[in-house]
Amino acid sequence: MEQDEKEVPVVYLHDVHRRYKQGEDTLTILDGATLALWEGQSVALVAPSGTGKSTLLHIAGLLEHADEGEVYIGGAATSSLSDKERTQIRRTDIGFVYQSHRLLPEFSALENVMMPQMIRGLSRKETVKRSQEILSYLGLSERVTHRPAELSGGEQQRVAIARAVANAPRVLFADEPTGNLDPQTADHVFQALMQLVRATGVAMLIATHNMELAGRMDRRVSIQHGKVIELD
Ligand code: ADP
Ligand code: MG
Repeated sequence: MEQDEKEVPVVYLHDVHRRYKQGEDTLTILDGATLALWEGQSVALVAPSGTGKSTLLHIAGLLEHADEGEVYIGGAATSSLSDKERTQIRRTDIGFVYQSHRLLPEFSALENVMMPQMIRGLSRKETVKRSQEILSYLGLSERVTHRPAELSGGEQQRVAIARAVANAPRVLFADEPTGNLDPQTADHVFQALMQLVRATGVAMLIATHNMELAGRMDRRVSIQHGKVIELD
């Protein structure tokens, strides 16, 4: 492993394999993918559609199982954990942002950010305070009572980011988070993500087609023949 040998990566995918059955055929998507994500480092995952970016993010984020290989979170293997234990790790250590915001439409921005903290069992008072802080940090202090439909696309994504980091995860995965946004809004949302990496030291992996944004991140990787390769 590169970098300081003494440090443990926040996330380490080791020799991950993932296949999908397609009728008679087997589609091999990941074929020995290995990737280390480090604290405070932003990594762009740039690869054509269908190469397995979402699959890799889902496996690294413990939303899906690998067929072979191991996912270590903070040095601890996860493959043989129970679903309950994996869910617990997802709640405390992992944040996810998708291309569409996936906010709950019936709830305000504040309530959407409160939700993961309430599920985790924090007090309501604490949760309100923390959610307000995160939303204002992301420039949304005037939008806390708005429902998703009353927000612009960029604001919706920033609320989704606030929700993803509400429990102070160690790693943030974002799957084409600016894919639906115009260039200026995409830039704004991207800056919010980078600001969080700098301020909190969270590790970040963003799947994106945007080469300009990828160029502004700390590191760039791709997927080729089911393996992760370093770009540059
Ligand atoms: P990307 O995010 O890079 O566009 P995906 O990880 O979504 O790629 O998908 C990689 C390939 O795996 C695609 O060809 C897709 O059709 C296939 N795939 C993804 N999920 C499934 C599934 N649940 N069942 C069958 N094939 C799948
Ligand atoms: Mg995808």
